[in-house]
Amino acid sequence: MNLLGIDFEDWYHPQLVEPFVSEEKKIPTMFRGLDKILDLLRKNDSKATFFVVGDLLESNPEILDKIMSEGHEIGFHTMKHTRLDSPNFRPEFKEELKKFEKLTSGKSIGFRAPTFSLNEKSSWAIDELVSNGYKYDSSIMPAKTNMYGMPSAERSPYRITNSSLGKNDPNGTLIEFPLLVTKFLGKTIPAAGGFYLRALPLKIIKNAIKSYEEKEIPASLYIHSWELTPEYIPRIKLPIKSHFITYHKIEKTFSKMNELLKKFEFTAFESYLSKIPNK
Ligand SMILES: [Zn+2]
Repeated sequence: MNLLGIDFEDWYHPQLVEPFVSEEKKIPTMFRGLDKILDLLRKNDSKATFFVVGDLLESNPEILDKIMSEGHEIGFHTMKHTRLDSPNFRPEFKEELKKFEKLTSGKSIGFRAPTFSLNEKSSWAIDELVSNGYKYDSSIMPAKTNMYGMPSAERSPYRITNSSLGKNDPNGTLIEFPLLVTKFLGKTIPAAGGFYLRALPLKIIKNAIKSYEEKEIPASLYIHSWELTPEYIPRIKLPIKSHFITYHKIEKTFSKMNELLKKFEFTAFESYLSKIPNK
């Protein structure tokens, strides 16, 4: 069984896009794409966890029921898509957790850090999550990229603590689900979704999932809501590299995801967690 996390955020939230959009241009459009995403999951009999940017629930509270009524789960992706390692973010994050708890009637017990920004500078977040009743996190990418990554981290789920971000700590209570990686041309790279799903041949992703399945490790995948519904997002002018990373082959995302969902079994994190014996 594999895991699917949908980072439910709007077109202006990604770190490579946000600085180029003025406040008055930040008009949400993502709720329009939700039905298409829910259809995709329903048709493939797949369940997912939606890691939602809290601001979207404030402006469109109906999103929550729509997602949950189809058997999917809600997780937290911060209120405004702020990197955890932003200066002095901790007090704000504490308030955000309380706010999100209210918005979701305490339904969220899982977290994904924006831009996988859980690292040595932001490890305090683990304690905040635990003290707010969170049970799992999925923010560690065991590969090095330009923007994030912890290449030495374990590949299978483990207990994470603020002093042991990449290795199992038996004293930990928060379960970390690291994202899927693979070897490509001698290097370990992400194979979990996003840009890598769009840019790499699908065969590489499929083989990566198969090799995890053979080792009985759940392959944890992520996809952004805006990548699945490019028809609802305005394209804006970005520096050439950011433009490439954000929009390259974005029209292919939906059909590639559809193929993966047809071929492999995916479920949501909480439901997976409830089925594994305490390790
Ligand atoms: Zn995000």
